[in-house]
Amino acid sequence: MKVRVDQELCIACGLCIDNVPEVFEWGAEGTSVAKVDMVPGELEQAVREAAADCPTEAIMVEE
Ligand code: SF4
Repeated sequence: MKVRVDQELCIACGLCIDNVPEVFEWGAEGTSVAKVDMVPGELEQAVREAAADCPTEAIMVEE
């Protein structure tokens, strides 16, 4: 599963970074960025939940 954060949509609430710090981190622009291109299998469910919980639907997952 691939993941990326749409930088136009992220409002830097920090939720995804709090919930899945193995995958999301603060980027140079002060928004969230994905640290990895491919999500490790054991974190896929957590990333799907982070995408569902993101208030602006900025987290794009590709199965
Ligand atoms: Fe940005 Fe969404 Fe993550 Fe909040 S949950 S930091 S809006 S990507």
